[in-house]
Amino acid sequence: MASCTTVGVTPVAGPTFSYWRKDGGHLENFRSTSDLPRVQDIVIIGSGLTGAACAYYISQTAGSSSIPTTTVLEAREVCSGATGRNGGHLRPEALASFSKFSETLGLDSANEIALFEVANAEAVKELVQTEGIDCDYTQVESANVYLDGSLASAAKSQIGELARSGYDIVGKIQFHENPHEAEDVTGVLGAKAAATFPAASIWPYKLAVHLLKIAMSKGVQLQTHTPAQCISSTPNDNGYWVISTPRGDMMAKTVIFATNGYTPNLLPEYAGTIIPVRGICSHIQAVNTSNPAPVISETIKTMGIKHSPGCQDYLITRPDGSIVVGGAWKAVRPGPRDDWYNVIDDSQLIPAAVNYYDGFMQRTFATWENEPSEVDYLWTGIMGV
Ligand SMILES: Cc1cc2nc3c(=O)[nH]c(=O)nc-3n(C[C@H](O)[C@H](O)[C@H](O)COP(=O)(O)OP(=O)(O)OC[C@H]3O[C@@H](n4cnc5c(N)ncnc54)[C@H](O)[C@@H]3O)c2cc1C
Repeated sequence: MASCTTVGVTPVAGPTFSYWRKDGGHLENFRSTSDLPRVQDIVIIGSGLTGAACAYYISQTAGSSSIPTTTVLEAREVCSGATGRNGGHLRPEALASFSKFSETLGLDSANEIALFEVANAEAVKELVQTEGIDCDYTQVESANVYLDGSLASAAKSQIGELARSGYDIVGKIQFHENPHEAEDVTGVLGAKAAATFPAASIWPYKLAVHLLKIAMSKGVQLQTHTPAQCISSTPNDNGYWVISTPRGDMMAKTVIFATNGYTPNLLPEYAGTIIPVRGICSHIQAVNTSNPAPVISETIKTMGIKHSPGCQDYLITRPDGSIVVGGAWKAVRPGPRDDWYNVIDDSQLIPAAVNYYDGFMQRTFATWENEPSEVDYLWTGIMGV
C-alpha cells in the first residue's frame, strides 16, 4: 500500500465564534456512525459550501439507483470554516471582476467571468427556491461605494469602457458619479461615487447545512471532528487512496479536497498557489432594541465600501435590521502582514482590527450617527486566496 508521507497541519481547535453559528443545530458535532466506514467510493474533505454542494449534487445524480458511498470528513464542527464565518454576501461583483481580469485575460474573458458570476447568483437563488432552503435569502440592491476620488474615477472610466465595448454586463450596473447623489443613495458619509447592482444576502451556514442534510437523507455520511491528516501519494493496487485520520484509515476511489485555504496542508504542491488569508468580520446591532434599527439607505441593503486601493469593508443588513460587516482592511493593512497573510489560525482576532468596528456605523452612515450600537460578535475566518 502506498504510504502516507506527510502529516498535514489541520484547522485549529476553538475558533472564534461567529454570528452565523449562534443557533448551532444537531449537525454541529454529528457523526453518522461511531466507527468510520473503512471503504467508500468518495471521501469529501471539508463540510463548507464546497463540500456540502459536492455531497448534495452527488446525492442528486444517481436517479433511482443507489448513490456512490460517500463520506464527508470535517476536522472540527460542521461548516466551521469560511462558510460559517463569512460576510453573507451573494454578490456578483461585475466591476471588480472586470478590472481584475480584463488586464490579464482580456475584455471578452472578463465579460464572460462577470456574466458567470451573475448566472451563479441566479443558480443559487433557484436552488434555494427549489429545495425550500431556510437561509434568509434576500434579494437586494447592492452598492460599491467609492470614498476615494481616484477609485471613483477608475470605476467611471471602467463603466465607460464597458458601455463602449457593448458588453451586456454594463446593463446591470447603475453608476452615480455625483457625490451628493452617491451619498443620498447609499447613506455613506463622504461617498465620492457609487455603482449599484442587484445582489442578495444569505445565511451561508444554513445554506450549506441544509444541503448536507439533503445529501445525508440520501445516504451520504457526515463525520465531524475527524481531520484528514494525510493522503497516500498514489492509489493502492486496487485503485484506492488511503486517508489517515486520528480515528483510523479510510480508503476511497475518489477524494475531493473541499478544504479551501487549508488545502496546502494536505497537498503541499499547492503551497504558494493557494494562500490562507485571515479575514475579520463582525455583527453590530443597535443598543436601543425597543426601536427598529435605522436603515442605512432606503434602497441599498448591502455594500462594499472602498476606502482606498485594497482597503474595503463589506456590509449586509440582516432582516432584523442588524448589520454584518467585515474587511477592516483600513486597519489591518498597516499592521503586521504576519497577522493575516499565510495564517490558518482563526482562534485569534487580528490585533490591528480588534476595535475597528466600535463606532463604525456612526462614522459611516448619516442615519446611524446618533444611534448607540454594540459589536456583539467579532470573529475571524480563513480564506483561500
Ligand atoms: C471573513 C470572511 C468573509 C467572507 N465574506 C464572504 C462573502 O460575504 N461572500 C462570499 O461569497 N464569500 C465570502 N467569503 C469567502 C467564502 O466564505 C468562501 O469562499 C467559501 O465559504 C468557501 O467555502 P469552502 O467550502 O470552499 O471552504 P470552507 O467553508 O473554508 O470549508 C473548508 C472546510 O474544510 C475543513 N477542513 C480543512 N482541512 C481539513 C482536514 N484536513 N480534514 C477535515 N476537514 C478539513 C475546514 O474545517 C472547513 O470546514 C468570506 C470569507 C471569510 C473568511
